[in-house]
Amino acid sequence: MASKFPTVSELVSEARRLYSQEFGQEEHPTVAVCAPGRVNLIGEHTDYNQGFVLPMALPLVTVVVGGPTSDLEVTVVTNSEDVDEPRRMCFNMHGDGSQLSPGKPAWANYVKGVMHHYRARPLPGFRAVIASSVPLGGGLSSSASLEVAFYTFLQQLNPDDGDKVSKALACQQAEHTHGGVPCGIMDQFVSVLGREGHALLIDCRSLKATLQPLEDPQLVILITNSNVKHSLTGSEYPTRRKQCEEAASVLGKDSLRDATMKDLEDKKDKLDDVTYRRARHVIEEIERTTQAADALKSRAYKEFGKLMVESHNSLRDLYEVSCKELDELVAAAMEVEGVFGSRMTGGGFGGCTVTLLQAPAVDKAILHIKERYSGTPTFYVTSPSEGARVLSLA
Ligand code: ADP
Ligand code: MG
Repeated sequence: MASKFPTVSELVSEARRLYSQEFGQEEHPTVAVCAPGRVNLIGEHTDYNQGFVLPMALPLVTVVVGGPTSDLEVTVVTNSEDVDEPRRMCFNMHGDGSQLSPGKPAWANYVKGVMHHYRARPLPGFRAVIASSVPLGGGLSSSASLEVAFYTFLQQLNPDDGDKVSKALACQQAEHTHGGVPCGIMDQFVSVLGREGHALLIDCRSLKATLQPLEDPQLVILITNSNVKHSLTGSEYPTRRKQCEEAASVLGKDSLRDATMKDLEDKKDKLDDVTYRRARHVIEEIERTTQAADALKSRAYKEFGKLMVESHNSLRDLYEVSCKELDELVAAAMEVEGVFGSRMTGGGFGGCTVTLLQAPAVDKAILHIKERYSGTPTFYVTSPSEGARVLSLA
């Protein structure tokens, strides 16, 4: 059935065990924090067009335990087997931690990036252990959950002013400068600001985030990992961004957020077919996302599901970021009674789908998708969860 993922307290226990193993049986962490991965319910490839997105925080989290040292030595260990070696990284800060360059191992760059962009100085040396239940590279944003968890950890060593939006932006910067990914703001925002029982409608232009209640025992959000990742991901993302900028410029707008379908139709003959289709996806997807947020408010799940399917079809046909595996998973999910809607989620070319369905239909849906899918999927039965938080070590 669905993949059983460890609870937060199980992850903390695992991290504590690893801490003693790495630093000595007498050594114990004094701080524990966690930050969630996320799934985007709707609003795909809209964030870098200044549009709306509607993600929620997941019960899948990255935990960091550790504590300060009296020198400038930093040692960080991850329990993940899916990273480049070594899994233990040590260095001396030689200063206040504000001038750290990316290097090897690659996974540690997320930690260095967060230290580099952290908003209070000085930072003490520290020891830390990472344990995570977010699959790495699966499109559920293990990278943002690691950044935000680490930022939350540093807040316990030397507090900043506590401003949450600035925290999310600093973590986004870490991903840009040290992770090498020019991501939008969605992942870090929802990892910081997500709340249990709520999705988060984010206006990526004003950075205003509005909580949308999404708590219904009759409802399940099923995530299906296709467990494929096509190599197109890296190269296609900047191409899409450029096409959107080009379209906005032809329409005489700062971004596609400011454009309507009428604007686009009026200038259709000035755009090549591909650029037109990219822009159409973005303009319609931004509209769909605000409609979906309204549908959620009135618990109109059928309407929400319909918008999810429209979103998927648009990502497949107009934006061309889906793939055979994701299309198969969505088609299979939609064949099950009790399913409201399903779509690819995240950047595309692999990764996960998200499906909204009636709780009693979940076992049937999992069986059916498994049977119909040509690959080997992993399932997560989830509900909207809490953003980054400090945990008790008691
Ligand atoms: P996604 O964010 O969709 O999971 P990314 O490629 O953006 O995929 O981020 C995955 C990378 O983040 C990993 O390859 C690794 O470098 C880093 N990372 C994420 N979680 C961990 C972890 N628990 N321990 C070490 N590195 C991690
Ligand atoms: Mg990521």
